[in-house]
Amino acid sequence: NLEVGIVGLPNVGKSTLFNAITKAGAEAANYPFCTIEPNVGVVDVPDKRLDVLSDMFKSKKIVPAAMRFVDIAGLVKGASKGEGLGNKFLSHIREVDAVAEVVRCFEDGNITHVEGSIDPLRDIDIINTELCLADMETVEKRQERLVKLAKTGDKKVKLEQAVMEKVMAGLSDGVPARRLGLTEEEQELLGELHLLTMKPVLYITNVAEGEVADPSGNEHVQAVKKYAAEENAEVIVVSAKMESEVAELPEEEAKEYLEMAGLEETGLDRLIKAGFKLLGLMTFLTAGEMESRAWTIKLNTKAPQAAGKIHTDFERGFIRAEIVSFDDLVACGSKAAAREKGLVRLEGKDYVMQDGDVVEFRFNV
Ligand code: GDP
Repeated sequence: NLEVGIVGLPNVGKSTLFNAITKAGAEAANYPFCTIEPNVGVVDVPDKRLDVLSDMFKSKKIVPAAMRFVDIAGLVKGASKGEGLGNKFLSHIREVDAVAEVVRCFEDGNITHVEGSIDPLRDIDIINTELCLADMETVEKRQERLVKLAKTGDKKVKLEQAVMEKVMAGLSDGVPARRLGLTEEEQELLGELHLLTMKPVLYITNVAEGEVADPSGNEHVQAVKKYAAEENAEVIVVSAKMESEVAELPEEEAKEYLEMAGLEETGLDRLIKAGFKLLGLMTFLTAGEMESRAWTIKLNTKAPQAAGKIHTDFERGFIRAEIVSFDDLVACGSKAAAREKGLVRLEGKDYVMQDGDVVEFRFNV
């Protein structure tokens, strides 16, 4: 079960945003450490293709893909030394597959910033430092072990030692491992360590309501964008406050609200989509009278394993997958029409699934 962890310094708007995610109304209070247990929120992954399929196949229901967010509280300066909820924080972040880092880019004199001023790059740096310190401990332990292993003369140990040195040098300078430009081979050698600073990251800039549609005037957001670009990370601009308000509204009213604000979709929807991508996930679709449904698989999953998502029998008895891409299907108007045009393909066990494949599996029971 893949999860995105939401992290950030206290009072940047994490809980507020997380409330929007769960609509559960967990407390958002103006003081640090108000959220102690990691909260898990399960959200639907928005996918307009399901509405189209549901119309075409007269489906009785729609089942979207789901994904999980975890609200990870407790990060402050010194977390790696056990300050605040430090140790707890680190163990929670270890468990997630990707990280969404909330940084405060809104001014509000009534809401204390733990570091005294609005400066997202400094905040990112504080978070990086804590995670780097934790990773240094991990790498150090591995290095000690490698010294012993090196005595066997294993060539791979030498390679690993070189990578550890490189990573250690970066970490000591406060540079997260993911920003060190490691080769695929080097990353593989690191894989076992599950370093915190190797996890994929996206940044969420929390801005004032009026700035969401056009954040170009917010220098903080621009600074974060520039920083994120250096590691090809995405930046999602939201107003956590607005998200939590919109989440309370009935669908129609929410739509109107967004239109008035000049927005096409909620920040939450943008965040969910970005999180889904960050986790390296994609969607294939099934459609019929009973339901139109999105299924979640890792990128590069082959057809039998995709079938196994639906039912283990489908994987075990896999014969073929009958596939038409969503775009071809829509262009033709119906599956029958797509079939006539030869756009419905029969694919075998080595077929690599593509996002938006509309699939029917054939299998032996
Ligand atoms: P956390 O400690 O990061 O979880 O922060 P919270 O979500 O508890 O937010 C801290 C305070 O900032 C609360 O009083 C929120 O109402 C307020 N806050 C959160 N997001 C925004 C925002 O976008 N704009 C403004 N003005 N206040 C916000």
